[in-house]
Amino acid sequence: ITMCAEKLALYGGEKLKSTPFGAGNRFGENDLHHLKEALEQGTLFYWYGDKVKSLTKKFAEIYDMPYCVAASSGTAAVHVALGICGVTAGDEVITSPITDMGTIIGILFQNAVPVFADLDPHSYTLDPKSVEEKITDKTKAIIAVHLTGGPTDMDAIMDIAHRHNLKVIEDCAQSYMATYKGKLLGTIGDVGCFSLNDFKQISAGDGGLVITRSEEMYEAALRFADKNYQRLPGKSAASRDVPFIAPNYRMNELTGAVGLAQMERMPKVCARLHEIGDRISDAIRDLPGIYPPKVQPDSTSTYWFYMFRIDEKEAGVDRNTFSDALAAEGIPNQRGYIPSCIYNYDLFINKRGYQGTNCPFGCKLNGHTHDYAPGLCPTAEDILNTAIRFSFNEFYTDADIDDIIAAIRKVSTYFAEKKNA
Ligand SMILES: *Cc1c(COP(=O)(O)O)cnc(C)c1O
Repeated sequence: ITMCAEKLALYGGEKLKSTPFGAGNRFGENDLHHLKEALEQGTLFYWYGDKVKSLTKKFAEIYDMPYCVAASSGTAAVHVALGICGVTAGDEVITSPITDMGTIIGILFQNAVPVFADLDPHSYTLDPKSVEEKITDKTKAIIAVHLTGGPTDMDAIMDIAHRHNLKVIEDCAQSYMATYKGKLLGTIGDVGCFSLNDFKQISAGDGGLVITRSEEMYEAALRFADKNYQRLPGKSAASRDVPFIAPNYRMNELTGAVGLAQMERMPKVCARLHEIGDRISDAIRDLPGIYPPKVQPDSTSTYWFYMFRIDEKEAGVDRNTFSDALAAEGIPNQRGYIPSCIYNYDLFINKRGYQGTNCPFGCKLNGHTHDYAPGLCPTAEDILNTAIRFSFNEFYTDADIDDIIAAIRKVSTYFAEKKNA
């Protein structure tokens, strides 16, 4: 007797998900309480008020780090990290070709050149071997993007950095509270960067956080996020003694208030996302040609989104049809992630960082040629061409997760049986 696969909703069968997904408001009384207190201070300036200070103190406590500096966005946090790592005109920074532009923008604004290394096919994070191949005499730093919420192979990245005297920045904008071999992501490299934009595990509308163990980098970060002004008491430099340009990436007290309130939810939210993601992976791992995201050994992901890959031959179905079939079952999803690897964006293809010029790519302080073209990072391109992505949040019920799993299994089983028939 052979099991007969259920007819897919895509082909007129019954739609699997018949109830709405769990929903809720991530903001509440606690946010209002802190916002009210912020306004009652009579100032919304971070250096005079208490909210941004309390937020950075709380975040540093949760992460067991001595220093945290606030910024106005995740993009700003990465830019601050680059600034305090000494990345400047003509330098190169090795990073991931699948990420948010926020990883890249700071590199370009420092007039440094982004160099893209290929990725591990299933963790979607930097492949250490490819990173090492991309190192030149101009390389200053590596930005490890812990994509989708799971860790980069940090032992290998730190080993490379030590051998080549490079700084390591962890872009944790998607990976709050995720761990690598027992250590929280963001605490392993020289600097960890986080985003409080409205789409991350927690939101303060917009905002960013930078953590480091180095007192010197901490003081540099305070300055780099605030026009290079010196506000710390007892320092010899006068406050307007500006040694080089730095932006104004200050966080205001209203953002700090909401960020502080969100800190109380963060561990719980992330624990739930971790649980949901792992549960889905365990429940679909056996399906032919379906590859759940790989999490490094003894490590955890907090699944900012869930992205799995389809091997078309093994699964008996192409990615796009699988995606359509899953959507028809009532599980909204996207094909891949960003439209193409970052190096295929116009600004790289045309090597035009600053309008009407070839800066920073033609910078004579760099002196290297950089070829950005399709095929540069073949594994990263494969990932984007074969991945399916969907989101979940802390309000999803266990029944919602059961439905997601059942839908993936239904679609997979249908095509697997067709293939074997
Ligand atoms: C969201 C994100 C950023 C940028 O954060 P913003 O707060 O939107 O500036 C940077 N890197 C990664 C990997 C992100 O996902």
